[in-house]
Amino acid sequence: MTLQTDKPGRASDFRGKATQGVALAALVLLTPFSLNNFYQGRYILGAGSLAIVAILAASAWGVSRGRDYSSLTLLGLVPAVVFFLAFALRKQGIIGALWCYPAVISFYFMLPERKAWIANAVLLAVALPQAWGALEAPLAARVAATLLAVSAFSAIFVRVIIDQQRRLEAQAITDPLTGLSNRTTLRAALEQAIQQSSRTRTPMTLVALDLDRFKSINDSLGHDAGDSVLRAVGDLLHRRIRRADKVFRLGGEEFLALLYGTNEENGRRVAEELRGAVASLALLPDRPVTVSIGVATLRPDESWIEWMKRSDENLYRAKASGRDRVAA
Ligand code: GH3
Ligand code: MG
Ligand code: MG
Repeated sequence: MTLQTDKPGRASDFRGKATQGVALAALVLLTPFSLNNFYQGRYILGAGSLAIVAILAASAWGVSRGRDYSSLTLLGLVPAVVFFLAFALRKQGIIGALWCYPAVISFYFMLPERKAWIANAVLLAVALPQAWGALEAPLAARVAATLLAVSAFSAIFVRVIIDQQRRLEAQAITDPLTGLSNRTTLRAALEQAIQQSSRTRTPMTLVALDLDRFKSINDSLGHDAGDSVLRAVGDLLHRRIRRADKVFRLGGEEFLALLYGTNEENGRRVAEELRGAVASLALLPDRPVTVSIGVATLRPDESWIEWMKRSDENLYRAKASGRDRVAA
């Protein structure tokens, strides 16, 4: 499962929140400096810093509306910040250079990774030659070294955060025992399949599986043996269905497969194959492990709940009529 991180929502959530935090902090911290610049007659610096606050506020507003604000940040904020820094460096020397550090850090937290690299490179390309011109050589060298260090550290920290977030997101939607999807993404997957089906008239079929007399496996051979059976069945389902299809472990010994582009006849055939494959796994020394299966092909105008309910009812019928069978 791949996770988008460069779009609003999911892993990029921290960027939206960072943008709002930076905007608020800038409003509180930067506005007094802007006003002081005006007061002292440094109109360009005053206007530049006010423009930065205004663009940040607009980005934060975009975030609150659920928009992808990162282009505004890259194309609006970055040039404004870089221009402001270049001007501040020339006018104020080391005082101007000091503002480069928070700018670099905020780029990494507000922008998607690649855009942050671009913004960082632009800032360095403009600020370092300016520093060379405006500062004594030993000081300029130290500004360059520390600015490069802050750039590298920020890039590394953000990478660590993104990796961690991806891992946590993957964990949250995965059943630890079988490695299959848990029910967290079930509703979204079914609703997406329903939409796709009504758009493209593709048939969609649900296959609900429940292990037969599973409690007796736990009772006679122990919970660990039960767990190995669940893992083996999960493995088999994962191997047997096509890449485009999805399998969920709904909980306990219940699984659900969502078969894309599959009509009732084919769904029934797949279910029958799965039933036979589980029965021939030879997981226990003395008896086969069997499953009962309910098949339901999506009907027009059906909700995901109604669709699942039908697969469940068919599963119940398969149980009631003797187990180790498919009902559709
Ligand atoms: P039926 O044929 O009617 O489905 O009977 P069954 O025994 O399979 O059904 P029941 O729902 O009564 O029992 C399911 C059992 O699954 C009960 C529970 O202890 C066990 N179970 C649930 N989750 C796990 C798990 O993660 N590991 C193991 N080993 N057992 C589990
Ligand atoms: Mg069962
Ligand atoms: Mg059950």
